[in-house]
Amino acid sequence: MTNAPAPTLFERIIAREIPAQIVYEDENYIAIKDIAPKAPVHLLVIPKKVSSRLDEITAEAEMGRLWLTAIKVAAQHLSDYRLIVNVGKGGGQEVFHTHVHVLGGWDSAQAVGFGQ
Ligand code: AMP
Repeated sequence: MTNAPAPTLFERIIAREIPAQIVYEDENYIAIKDIAPKAPVHLLVIPKKVSSRLDEITAEAEMGRLWLTAIKVAAQHLSDYRLIVNVGKGGGQEVFHTHVHVLGGWDSAQAVGFGQ
């Protein structure tokens, strides 16, 4: 028996143990369609290097690469979009493997603002 922590849901998706709709992948990141979309386009950009939550990432280069990748993935699907990170249970985080939500695709009649 090992003391290795159980793989996260997203590690299992990265390992192809759980199916997902993959929209982007490189050496360090994967992006998938959210299974329960909260917008017409709802993607998750996930670092392959596991951290539980965004504030565990302390290296500037790593943090920068995550956001640059989120912007790159967003731009492949959307011209305007919203990036969200839920940090901790109180911040709405449910999956404790850091990820950036990319949301968009609303039509102009559904203009979004804070609180929506
Ligand atoms: P958060 O609440 O920030 O941790 O976001 C977790 C997100 O993961 C939610 O928007 C879920 O809908 C999404 N999710 C959960 N399980 C899956 C899955 N198997 N494939 C894709 N997205 C998932």
